[in-house]
Amino acid sequence: MLIAGNWKMYKGPAETAEFCVELKRHAADLEGVDIAVCPPYASLAVAVQILAGTEIAVAAQNVHWEPEGAFTGEVSAPMLRELGVYGAIVGHSERRQLFGETDEGVARRIRAALDAGLSVIACVGETEAEREAGETEDVLRRQVSVLEAEDNLVLAYEPVWAIGTGKTATPEIAQEAHEFVKSLLDVPVLYGGSVKPENAGELLALPDVDGALVGGASLDVESFAAICLNATRPM
Ligand code: PEP
Repeated sequence: MLIAGNWKMYKGPAETAEFCVELKRHAADLEGVDIAVCPPYASLAVAVQILAGTEIAVAAQNVHWEPEGAFTGEVSAPMLRELGVYGAIVGHSERRQLFGETDEGVARRIRAALDAGLSVIACVGETEAEREAGETEDVLRRQVSVLEAEDNLVLAYEPVWAIGTGKTATPEIAQEAHEFVKSLLDVPVLYGGSVKPENAGELLALPDVDGALVGGASLDVESFAAICLNATRPM
C-alpha cells in the first residue's frame, strides 16, 4: 500500500521542513505503509535532507525526458536522482489540462524517469464530460496504451471531476475503474480524488485499490498521517 501526498504548488522550503519534522514523529505508527511526499521542486532538497534515514520517500511532481538541454523551466531525471529524490509523479491532470501535456509527452517523461532509476506514479483519469458521454473506458485505454508494465511504475486513477472538488468517486466507480485499468496494465493502481481521513478507509479497502494519491488533504500533516494510518489496518 502506497500513500503519496501531492503538494502541488504549496509549501516552500520552510513549511516543508516543518511538515517533514512532524511527519517523522508519526513514522513509528505508520510502519508497513509506503509513504511518499511530493513537494514542489524548490522544496525537494530540504525534504530529502530531513527524511533521510526514514522509510518516507520524496518524489517530484514532474520530470523532463531529456537529461539536460535547452528546456527552460524543466528538470531532468538525473538531476532529481542527484538530489536523492526517489521518484516522480507524471501526467497529472493539471499538467495535461493547464500545461498542454500529451499522452506521448507523458510517455517520454515516464520512460526517461524509469531509465534513470526513478520510480513513477503515472496519472490517468477521465473528465466529467468524458464520463457523462460514456467515454471513460476509451480515455483510460488511450492514456494507458502508451505505457508498459515495469517494476517501478505505479498508476494513479484520478477522475478529473474528483480532484480538488470534494466529489469522491463512489467505491463502486473506483473499483470498476481500477479493475479496468489493471486489465490494461498489470501494475499497482492508486486512487486519487478528494481522498480524506473520512473516506480513506473504504477506498483503500477496495480489492483493486493499492494506495492513494492525495492532494489537498496531504498538506496538513495530521490529516495526511490519518490517511496513512488507514493503510496500516488489515483490510
Ligand atoms: C491530486 O492532486 O492528485 C489530488 C488527488 O487532489 P485532491 O486530493 O485535492 O483531490
